[in-house]
Amino acid sequence: MQKDLTLLLGLQEIDDQLGELERSRIYLPEMIQSLEKEIDELNQAIAINDKILEESQREQRMFELEIETDKQELDKFQKQMKVIKTNKEYDALTAEIDAKKQGVADKEEKTLALMAAADEAREKSAELKSMLTEVKTRNTTQLETLRNQESTLQAKIEDKIIERNNLIKDINRQIVGVYERIRKGKGGMAVVPVRKRACSGCFKQIPPQRIQEIRRGDRIFACDSCGRILTWTDEENV
Ligand SMILES: [Zn+2]
Repeated sequence: MQKDLTLLLGLQEIDDQLGELERSRIYLPEMIQSLEKEIDELNQAIAINDKILEESQREQRMFELEIETDKQELDKFQKQMKVIKTNKEYDALTAEIDAKKQGVADKEEKTLALMAAADEAREKSAELKSMLTEVKTRNTTQLETLRNQESTLQAKIEDKIIERNNLIKDINRQIVGVYERIRKGKGGMAVVPVRKRACSGCFKQIPPQRIQEIRRGDRIFACDSCGRILTWTDEENV
């Protein structure tokens, strides 16, 4: 094969790798962020749940204290009942006792609801914490790998650029110019193999005589239709 063509294929490989590295510049931080977010969100859910648990326990204690006081007052009312003198006093005290009893019943009901909420929060807390452990184990290893990749990315890109510059020195300037123009314009492969007697970039059929010329590789041919540089590979000879 023509020396420039071999070198162009090497250049294309380097450019593909460079493209991949440049894409990593975007997707590595995104992946890192999404793995960190997964952990953060679980931590937040745990914090919210803990707050609910704390709040329901606090309210529960408050109602318990109030019920305690209410019951003491009820005792006091019961004692007063024994020394009541008039019907009017009796009616008033009975009403107070009834109201107090109703209040106690309401608070007991609320306490039960709070206990159920606390149980639910405790259960959810255990569930979330075990999820966090699992996610942390999984994501930590992945994060380590990704952060390593991210930290060596710049050096890898610089190495590739040096490699590219060294290679490009040995290729005909004009051919490099054509290559770069196609690569920019078509956004991808600039050197493509002939496949099924057609350009594998745009699928335009190539005349048999031209195929023979490409096959001989005496000089570089571009596709009439898309302008991509055509190569012959031995596995493609049908
Ligand atoms: Zn073409």
